This record gives sequence, structure tokens and C-alpha cells, in this order.
Amino acid sequence: MYLPKSFRQITVTFMKPLTEQEIRAAFVNCTKGEAKRLSVPRDLAERPWGDLDYLGWRDPQAPDRAYLVAELDGGPKALALRGSAGAVGQARRSMCSMCLTTHSGGVSLMVAPKAGRAGQQGNSVGAYLCSDLACSLYVRGLRDAGIGARLPETITLEEKIGRTVANLAAFVARVTG
Ligand SMILES: [Zn+2]
Repeated sequence: MYLPKSFRQITVTFMKPLTEQEIRAAFVNCTKGEAKRLSVPRDLAERPWGDLDYLGWRDPQAPDRAYLVAELDGGPKALALRGSAGAVGQARRSMCSMCLTTHSGGVSLMVAPKAGRAGQQGNSVGAYLCSDLACSLYVRGLRDAGIGARLPETITLEEKIGRTVANLAAFVARVTG
């Protein structure tokens, strides 16, 4: 399979555990007030940080609201997203644009308002993501998406992780750019 060189050049760094305060301060595409009020998981200490390229979660009170935080360019960056609570076409197989896992009905279109003035003017960017925001676990084989979920590839796990991080960084750049 063709793999652009840039994927191979990404050094994979493991996420350091983040605190609620660090996560709230990392949001780039919502107001400070929204970042203060939005739902952050209470079980941060129990999250498998060493196996995560990003931490993603949904608001249990409002499942169409999703969030993710990733360690990029030396600092955490968090995004507020809107995603359908259900999945794209229930029985249809779709592929996550981040980790390239194919699910039957487990991929959602997530829309992020752009950062700054562009976002205030209503501009947003979208991406198809694993509905449960668990890309990191699918890439590492720690969560199973079923038969045929992952294409047989000859690249290493590190390269798959590097590719996921590159896709994630590109998405964050589209939101902040
Ligand atoms: Zn994914």
C-alpha cells in the first residue's frame, strides 16, 4: 500500500494523563464559558492514556455533543464537536477518516465549528469519525469493530498510529486554520 513519507516521519508520543483543568483550558473552538461548563469525563484517572492518541468522549446528557483532546505541537488541543448520536446509515459500512476502521453503522459525521471569528460566523469543518471516538483502541486492536473492519496492511502498528495522529493533526489544523 502506498504510504506518504510524512506518515513515517511522525514520531509517536504517548499521551500524558490530563487533568480536567488542562482539558478545559485546551479548547480551541468554543468560548471560555462553554469550555468551563461542558461535560468532561469524571474517570480521567482510569482512562488508558498510554494507548490513546486522543481522548474522545460524548456528553452523557446530550449525546450529539462530542469532544476530543489530543497532545499536538507540545500542548493539548481540544475540540468541541457536533455529531449525530446514531450512526451514518445504520447498516451501511463506512470508514473512519481518522483511523481508517470500517464499521457497520459505527461511524458518525462530526462537525467542529472553526476557531475564532470564522467559527463565530458559522463556519465549520466536518469529518467522519468512529462514533465512540475510540480510534486509538481500534488501531491497536484493543477494541474489535468486527470482521473486515481493518484492511490487511503491511505497515507496522507504529506507522498506523503515526497515520492516525497525522489525520488527527490535519483535522485540528482545519479547525484552527
Ligand atoms: Zn476511528
